[in-house]
Amino acid sequence: MTSNKIIGIDLGTTTSCVAVLDDKNTPKTLVAADGERTTPSWVAWTAAGQVTVGTRARRQAVTNPSATVYGAKRLIGRKVNAEDVAWFARLAPFRIVAAPNGDAWVRVHGLPISPQEIAAHVLRRMRQVAEEAIGEPVTRAVVTVPAYFDDAQRQATRDAGQIAGLDIIRILNEPTAAALAYGVHRHAEGRRLIAVFDLGGGTFDISIMSVDNGIFEVLATGGDTALGGEDWDRRLQERIVDEVFDAHRIDLTGIPMAMSRLREACEAAKKTLSVENETVIQLPFLANDQHGAPINYEKPITRAIVEQLTQDLIDRLEAPCSRALADAGLADVEEVLLVGGMTRWPAVQATVERIFKMKPSKGANPDEVVALGAAAYAGILAGDTDDAALLDVTPHDLGIKVGDSGFSVVIPRNSMLPVRARKLFATTAADQKFVSIDVYQGESDTLGKNRKLGQVVLDDLPAGPAGSIRVELVMTVDVESLLSVTARELKSGREASVTIRPSGGLSQREVVEIINRRRQESSVAGKLPEGDGNIVRVATREQPVIKPDDEG
Ligand code: AMP
Repeated sequence: MTSNKIIGIDLGTTTSCVAVLDDKNTPKTLVAADGERTTPSWVAWTAAGQVTVGTRARRQAVTNPSATVYGAKRLIGRKVNAEDVAWFARLAPFRIVAAPNGDAWVRVHGLPISPQEIAAHVLRRMRQVAEEAIGEPVTRAVVTVPAYFDDAQRQATRDAGQIAGLDIIRILNEPTAAALAYGVHRHAEGRRLIAVFDLGGGTFDISIMSVDNGIFEVLATGGDTALGGEDWDRRLQERIVDEVFDAHRIDLTGIPMAMSRLREACEAAKKTLSVENETVIQLPFLANDQHGAPINYEKPITRAIVEQLTQDLIDRLEAPCSRALADAGLADVEEVLLVGGMTRWPAVQATVERIFKMKPSKGANPDEVVALGAAAYAGILAGDTDDAALLDVTPHDLGIKVGDSGFSVVIPRNSMLPVRARKLFATTAADQKFVSIDVYQGESDTLGKNRKLGQVVLDDLPAGPAGSIRVELVMTVDVESLLSVTARELKSGREASVTIRPSGGLSQREVVEIINRRRQESSVAGKLPEGDGNIVRVATREQPVIKPDDEG
């Protein structure tokens, strides 16, 4: 029997988490059989092509660096030449390559693999954790993404779900999920302005939101994609590497097993030091010294020392917050929510308090709140809870090209879904034969800075002087963010329409191919994408199929 439960998944850059509503309709984190509440978003391949996911993949990373992939979320739906992708490619010990369409893929054991496939491995693991905990097969999920993810990144995430055999019934913004988990929408007093401060393992995201009557609106986002808890671990690790070198003239960085143990010990020490003032790092038989004798590292470390080593990291938290507040046109917010495991670190909390001039709200487990919010949202969608209706909005302005390079907005950003808008146009030349309407998404007045989504061409227009032939444009976006554009010549009723499904870089055919390939468990090389698969259907009809029900 398949469960009718919809799970909520926080598909994170460094760790992922899955939650579901329990019998009392309270969101609960689902714990893996090994007791882990979160799963590292790491995927590794053995030389024989066998895949491991999670903690096991992370553990063997130092001995198998070129075939262990992490941070796939930094690549999904992205072009390889994007600035932060290029930064990540320089840093990552595995190869990041360009697919023929310019998308960022990875190459493992000589085979190109899309980030969608890598994310699918993580999603499949989260699904497995859920199925084992619930005791029933699960097929539907709400998956969260950062608020700044564009359509391509969102669609690529959906495609990853499909590859993993999960129907992603809704993509939810991470700060919205956090706000839901914190119950911000249950405040009675109308519009509430909040900040969601999310410091995870690899990234820092700040979102300024307004919550009003169940409508969650992201007003501004910011952050630092190169700042996270792992930077704290690395600082401590570097210090110990230096200490060992000074004492024994041995460079641990050249000894993968030692580095792996050191990394885990440093992260564990950091976690302890977020509640204690002092701990001891013990690493017996870490390496051999120059005489072949074992190096048994054992030293106390204080929170104060780690704070000293990481002060510059703390200093990097402020500017993105101030910028996001300014972008939202605000000086203050009414509440700050802490999200991400690294917000347990006392100096981080103190900094948040200083920046926002208030004590932040803390959940019990900041690394689980996004998944809990996704599960709460899944409950709303399933009708299990009568919680405030949560309404989705369009993340960007939608409009069309006018003149040579102008952009005319038809549906403004933050319009509630579903939304329908109508605009009337007139021909600009006598006996104009056709109109071509280019649909764009973005916030810039400069057309080139926005993203082209598709085109509708309406031909065989009746003859007539310039301005006498009128074309009505209707744009609709449904609750699944599917955009339809219809152009209709008013006199004849002749019509052309296009449905634009955002593309994540893989065509539907390619997604199905990956699924089949996985089914056959063949080890044949992955096929690289050809087109961008953006336009799904273009149709012209002689008769109008919609009647205008609003004034244009
Ligand atoms: P997330 O991506 O939200 O799971 O955050 C993971 C990051 O939070 C990692 O860098 C963890 O080391 C860090 N983290 C988790 N628990 C703690 C803790 N108790 N104290 C300090 N950092 C923590």
